[in-house]
Amino acid sequence: MRTLITGGAGFIGSHLTEALLAAGDQVTVLDDLSTGRWENLAGVADRPGLRLVRGSVLDAELVERLVLDADTIYHLAAAVGAFTIRDRTLDSLRTNLHGTEHVVAAAHRYDVRLLLASTSEIYGKNDKVGLREEDDRIIGSPTKSRWSYSEAKAIDETLVTAYGRAGLRAVTVRLFNTVGPRQTGRYGMVVPRFVGQALAGDPLTVYGTGDQIRCFCHVADVVAALPALLAERAAIGGVFNLGSAEQVSIGELARRVVTLTGSHSTIDRIPYQVAYGDGYEDMMRRVPDCRRARELVGFVPGRDLDTILRDVVDEHRAVPLARRVLATP
Ligand code: UDP
Repeated sequence: MRTLITGGAGFIGSHLTEALLAAGDQVTVLDDLSTGRWENLAGVADRPGLRLVRGSVLDAELVERLVLDADTIYHLAAAVGAFTIRDRTLDSLRTNLHGTEHVVAAAHRYDVRLLLASTSEIYGKNDKVGLREEDDRIIGSPTKSRWSYSEAKAIDETLVTAYGRAGLRAVTVRLFNTVGPRQTGRYGMVVPRFVGQALAGDPLTVYGTGDQIRCFCHVADVVAALPALLAERAAIGGVFNLGSAEQVSIGELARRVVTLTGSHSTIDRIPYQVAYGDGYEDMMRRVPDCRRARELVGFVPGRDLDTILRDVVDEHRAVPLARRVLATP
């Protein structure tokens, strides 16, 4: 199987690249290294089945050439992270809209099966427990920059649906707070930030009240589900939530990280306005309903939050202090 992974040098993409190489695929990674890093693939760099291409999904010609050579595509390339969206809103929109359009159009043109990595962000401010696939979308206002990522991803899903009606074989997954080794806190993600802060002895930066609920899912559990869904004929044309059922408030997460690391860090509350500036709204509860993926491919995340936190702490401890990305407020 010849597989193209856009964003394959990123956090999730690098884990997927490893998994597919181990399964015997020939993997081409397309990454512009904006947030991805070749070092994420250091463990498989000498594999003969791996080809690394530095380039952007905004380069339609390049995308077309790579798609022509592929049997399957995992489209993971995207501008991600709350800080990225805040600081580079327009660039992020371009990547997430036009880049995806190039990939999806080429997949359709050459009849290559595609998996689109979408996001729980498309549920916007909806905080209902057990978010379902197609009927629960309540987005935030376009005047709030936070939701621009959400809007772009929702349009990506709509594109896939429209091309699907024209014959594209595609699966959409909505990822809910995927975490694990290699995720960086530089662009906003809370788990690596808290772990980095705790190990450095810096205050943990809890934004807002800390009562907001998330469900963190180990990247290995997510990555295992992606090829299973793409290989499943009945999944084509479908949208699947992928996430954990284990709920935790961000305040509680901070306490658990402090305890686990034996840190003397304090836990600070920071107003959203200070953390993100204007245009940010939080989602107070984000809990997936993954019944569809469970019924179709047996998706049940096996790693609990303690396991996830231990994995992330172990990874951070293995990196010399000078190279750790320390948190910014
Ligand atoms: N958050 C926090 N401190 C940080 C980074 C994030 O309290 O240093 C909060 C953030 O406001 C959100 C939650 O943690 O309520 C998860 O943030 P993340 O950016 O990881 O993912 P999100 O669920 O917002 O997409």
